[in-house]
Amino acid sequence: MKYVSTVGHSPPTDLLTALTEGIAPDGGLYLPEVFPTLESTVLNRMKGLPFAEVSRIISQHLLGDELQSKNLDELIHKALNFTIPLSEYQKDIFGLELFHGPTLSFKDVGARFLAQLLDFLREEDDQPLFILVATSGDTGGAVAQGFFDKKGIQTVILFPSGRVSPLQESQFGTLGGNVHALEVSGNFDDCQKLVKSAFLDHELNKRVKLGSANSINIGRLLPQIFYYFHAYGQLLTQEEPLFSVPSGNFGNLTAGLIAKRLGLPVRGFVAATNINDTVPEYLKTGTVRPRASIPTISNAMDVGDPSNLSRIEYLYQSNLTKLRCDIVGSVHSDTETRACIRTVYRSTGKILDPHSAVGYLGVEPGVSRFGHGPSMFLMTAHPIKFRESVEQETNCTLTIPESVSSALLSKRQVVPIGPNLSELREFLLNKT
Ligand SMILES: *Cc1c(COP(=O)(O)O)cnc(C)c1O
Repeated sequence: MKYVSTVGHSPPTDLLTALTEGIAPDGGLYLPEVFPTLESTVLNRMKGLPFAEVSRIISQHLLGDELQSKNLDELIHKALNFTIPLSEYQKDIFGLELFHGPTLSFKDVGARFLAQLLDFLREEDDQPLFILVATSGDTGGAVAQGFFDKKGIQTVILFPSGRVSPLQESQFGTLGGNVHALEVSGNFDDCQKLVKSAFLDHELNKRVKLGSANSINIGRLLPQIFYYFHAYGQLLTQEEPLFSVPSGNFGNLTAGLIAKRLGLPVRGFVAATNINDTVPEYLKTGTVRPRASIPTISNAMDVGDPSNLSRIEYLYQSNLTKLRCDIVGSVHSDTETRACIRTVYRSTGKILDPHSAVGYLGVEPGVSRFGHGPSMFLMTAHPIKFRESVEQETNCTLTIPESVSSALLSKRQVVPIGPNLSELREFLLNKT
């Protein structure tokens, strides 16, 4: 399988190049060149199978040229070694719990798969690869844990000083080894700018091989396709589900659209956002109006210029009529989100994090638009990761799962740097 750029001015490339470059030379994002349809017999065979089995079938279908099936088995065994259960909230409304990975974020799925894939595809004697990532919280932990101990790969996480929670910081700032946490005196935009300028620095790139693991990497997108099939496989009926996807950079929704393209039966998708509503607005008006992000309680979705929109436009050739056939937008304020956490807790005893709550809120507009039937909202984080707002609305005291609490007690290993490229460059050159 070759990978093509959404801009269309770069030649199709192989998987390893697409994974290490992250972004195509023409500035576009990579997508598979073709979307081979899965036979309905294969779809039916996936009913009731565990997540790892479903992942094996779809990854064989998409990556079978690049990896032998025994390597794919090992890759999935190492990267996707957790469950993604479906939990019923009301008749026909289900939450897909994507947060059972090691950092309790759905980003574990993409980050772990990418890390393991690179590990398999790279040659022993390749030049060491430096993965550079800016994080506002969740990405850093998932990437750090995914790449921890991978041979020949150094992972550098840049995070804004004082702006990530202690739990988040413990997930990338206590590992040591090949994981380097750089505490930047600045905000998240400064971290992103630093990463960007490192990639643009020709001198530096001659001396160190840089790679990215941010959400635009195709290696993070591919495994997200698997869980849409697994969600369908867990339904007891053959009915077409609706998916409400709480979205920020829209990687999650893009993976769903690709799953549909591969043959997954889907009634429709909801692009559910907080007030950062660039995509819902586009679906309504036909105009893309990127803007600065506005802070909300679902802060992992505070994105004003979503990068994966270019992939969505590519998949639908920017044809609004076709887009509206598959996707409806739905925008929710913090007030609505808080009320949702309260009412769901009162009526079901279940606790939603603010992002999953936005997904939950998207179900109703989705049903109005696409009709009744099984409806799923994607649950992107464990409530403990957004403890404050959740405890405030439910009056519950959440306990930190043991799997993550030990890191809070581990020794912090972070290096402070200023928000300028010279310090980052020096750090990288010292590690080569
Ligand atoms: C990253 C993130 C999102 C947004 O996912 P996209 O694929 O960027 O749309 C939603 N919820 C949580 C908790 C996240 O960490």
